[in-house]
Amino acid sequence: MSKRRVIFCDFDGTITVNDNIVAIMKHFQPEGWDKLVDQVINKEITIREGVGRMFALLPTSRKEEVIDFAIRNVTIRAGFAELLDYCKREGITFLVTSGGIDFFVYPVLSAFPIPSDNIYCNASDFSGSHFRILWPHACDEHCHNDCGMCKTTIIRAYPADEYERILIGDSVTDFEGAKLVDTVYARAHLIDLCKELGLNYKPFENFYDVIQHIEELNVR
Ligand SMILES: [Mg+2]
Ligand SMILES: [Zn+2]
Repeated sequence: MSKRRVIFCDFDGTITVNDNIVAIMKHFQPEGWDKLVDQVINKEITIREGVGRMFALLPTSRKEEVIDFAIRNVTIRAGFAELLDYCKREGITFLVTSGGIDFFVYPVLSAFPIPSDNIYCNASDFSGSHFRILWPHACDEHCHNDCGMCKTTIIRAYPADEYERILIGDSVTDFEGAKLVDTVYARAHLIDLCKELGLNYKPFENFYDVIQHIEELNVR
């Protein structure tokens, strides 16, 4: 029996053209955010710590403004709706695995037919003086990366002997997951990592490229 396909697809910089967390920070410019981004990229602090501390710089008095900006700022990468159609037709499970936050991930994706159970992201709490990020999908006992939203934990729920696992992503939140899957569709910084580690990857610019390559896998 052939394995069932499952796709783990990143949100920021993958489904969307821009990275929404960076866009929010660049727009609202809370004091010290840029240093935190550098520290995450240089691995001086973990993704969870960096994202948590960045949002903690934003006062909840600006909540509506931040949410409006985050949702309005989004451009969806070409071919996304078509990829969802394709997955539905082909019986491929499509999961959104995002290091982004619920207050922009769910509203943006509400335009697309993705069951909310298939969307994994971080959560938020506005009850205090500043934004607080919650981590309902933190690392399991196998991951020591302090991911925040742990893609490897979700990937492990789809065992390699039953599933052909595909990851689509662009950046630092995709690194650990990319090491586990059969095929990586990569953009930007994730391409460098895949090259460095000799992972099975294909660069892509839009989701039409991804559909075309999955079709080619079928022919082989
Ligand atoms: Mg990303
Ligand atoms: Zn993890």
